[in-house]
Amino acid sequence: MKLGNLVRDQWVTGDGDGRTLKSAVSGDTIATITSDGLDFKDILNYARTVGGPNLRQLTFHERGDRLKALAQYLNERRKTFYALSYETGATKADSWIDIDGGISTLFVFSSKGRREMPNDHVYLDGAPEELSRNGTFKGQHIYTSKLGAAIHINAFNFPVWGMLEKLAPTLLAGVPAIVKPASSTAYLTEAVVRSIIESGILPHGSLQLICGGVGDLFDHLDCQDTIAFTGSKWTAEKLQTHPNVIAQSVAFTAETDSLNASTLGPDAVAGTPEFDLFVKEVVREMTVKAGQKCTAIRRIIAPAASSADLVRALSEALASVRVGNPASKDVDMGALASHGQRDEVAERIATLSAEASIVHGGSADFDVVDADAQKGSFFMPTLLHCDAPLSASAVHSVEAFGPVATVLPYETLDEAIALSRKGEGSLAGSVFTNDDAVARELILGTAAYHGRMLVINRHCAGESTGHGSPLPHLVHGGPGRAGGGEEMGGVRGVLHYMQRTAIQGSPQSLTAIGNRWVRGADENTDTVHPFRKTFEQLRIGDTLNTETREVTLEDINHFAEFTGDTFYAHTDEEAARKNPFFDGRVAHGYLIVSFAAGLFVDPDFGPVLANYGVDDLRFLKPLNYGDSLKVRLTCKQKTLRGDSGYGEVRWDAEATNQDEEIVARYDVLTMVATDAHWASVQ
Ligand code: NAP
Repeated sequence: MKLGNLVRDQWVTGDGDGRTLKSAVSGDTIATITSDGLDFKDILNYARTVGGPNLRQLTFHERGDRLKALAQYLNERRKTFYALSYETGATKADSWIDIDGGISTLFVFSSKGRREMPNDHVYLDGAPEELSRNGTFKGQHIYTSKLGAAIHINAFNFPVWGMLEKLAPTLLAGVPAIVKPASSTAYLTEAVVRSIIESGILPHGSLQLICGGVGDLFDHLDCQDTIAFTGSKWTAEKLQTHPNVIAQSVAFTAETDSLNASTLGPDAVAGTPEFDLFVKEVVREMTVKAGQKCTAIRRIIAPAASSADLVRALSEALASVRVGNPASKDVDMGALASHGQRDEVAERIATLSAEASIVHGGSADFDVVDADAQKGSFFMPTLLHCDAPLSASAVHSVEAFGPVATVLPYETLDEAIALSRKGEGSLAGSVFTNDDAVARELILGTAAYHGRMLVINRHCAGESTGHGSPLPHLVHGGPGRAGGGEEMGGVRGVLHYMQRTAIQGSPQSLTAIGNRWVRGADENTDTVHPFRKTFEQLRIGDTLNTETREVTLEDINHFAEFTGDTFYAHTDEEAARKNPFFDGRVAHGYLIVSFAAGLFVDPDFGPVLANYGVDDLRFLKPLNYGDSLKVRLTCKQKTLRGDSGYGEVRWDAEATNQDEEIVARYDVLTMVATDAHWASVQ
């Protein structure tokens, strides 16, 4: 079977016989792959002129809805992908990480997009910046979708997750994707893309797939395009220095290989829970996906005093790992992705063994369960030990992309830190200790060399997601050797596909551009109380200026007794005067907020359904008894919640005293009924 290329929403096959792709388990031919003869300029043009505009018609929330629908669709069909996944050498547990992990990434981005981004096309980055004395000229950073395409070039080890973890933030950003999977496992990616297209959930042009080489695609990229690459450092460098990528300043993010380290604390000697957790995690990291994980532990940094115990415990645990046919339930570790991969791992171990001795494994010639060791691409889990790691170089720089790791002993924490840094930049690092002072020293000493680090002890191990699992909520990527890129990390990952622009102008212009009211912009004060308006009737800028209320000493006393908040600043005149901030007893901050609500609410049954919190509350000036209080409440931002019957309305609240001095400022958060809901309950 020749793999399809998805071009202009049509499945087409490339010219010629292409490359043959074989099962990692049986060595049988599975498919051939070629993209020869495709018009790459046209593919790019279709993404830019059809996919981009279609996606950008949708708001962030609507795109999030599509991601959720897609996740549900794939979830119902995920079992069908498992059969192909076994052919890549993946066990059921490995396939779960790839397939179910990829689908869950879609769910998380869908949820983040709908909860943390506006139901709009523009994303505001922070609060307005004050740039002028009178407040008539301000600044606001905004993000808008880039107008080009995202080129995703993926590695072979996670054919599903690798695609979906890039696709989710890209589509949420309103940018179409052109996906190029690694050839050796592209048959699984292709099957998932067929399912995505069958679903009809994504707008036309949002996704195209190239199975094979990318031809002259890079020659046509420009500053609106983004390349997100995962693979080896060598390929990343080659692509990043493509003359057109340099000439057009095409955004390039790289996730490459790394010599990730896990460090055992000096307190975690044999017999402690942390020692046992460390052994378990190292073995897991070495054997999941047969060690073909960019985040896998390659360097095991351990106290010299514990290293003999550690080598013994790791060797025993590795000896019980059953290697063989990944579809068999008696197997713990499957095959490497190809014979080429197996041979490369053997070569890299040979290089490492110039500096380290093999203490377990080291061979591709061994008994495997329910498979032919010669036909499949199997390799024994292999542990090495390096006596002089500080002066070694290969153990810190040669990545054997398989079930291989090296123990590196240290004498002091400074040495442990120096060893970790010798990786010259990693995706993931971990520390196993029950001494938080050790944890702090190791993390502060090495965090600058890492994209993600975890600290494991007996208290969190049970719920830990593990050393090697990138999570959609957290950033994935790392400095130096790891490629210097960053992906995921929630909304951060979406913004990589958007352009940040600093906008300067009047508060009214900034309000219109960002759909969020900026102080100093127009205040619409009509006769209808804003709490009497439905979500649709409310306009950004609708403002209520309340009556004035005096705050008396009796009010403060009553509030103190009623709430139990008898803090001296509200109850003891003499003590309050000794406080540098107050000139005698002052009103409670929460009294101000409560009185403010009493001033601005409209009490009758109405479209405002609930107050669900306040944001950014600041008390700016004390309010003494005898002072008076009034409030300006302005509709600041509206976020419709799908067809739930309500939307969220954020109000800008400013409480002032009799001298127009600002006493408190905050955002009030409410849920307001839509026209339809309001009509149905009256
Ligand atoms: P690779 O050889 O660098 O290939 C990576 C991707 O680049 C593949 O899709 C490959 O396609 C493509 N590619 C190669 N040459 C290209 C070119 N001239 N133009 C366009 N695309 C090109 O890496 P690999 O062997 O597949 O993956 C293993 C490496 O990836 C390991 O070093 C591992 O550490 C790293 N990795 C990193 C991460 C991470 O998140 N940081 C994740 C997984 C793997 P073909 O397959 O068609 O050649």
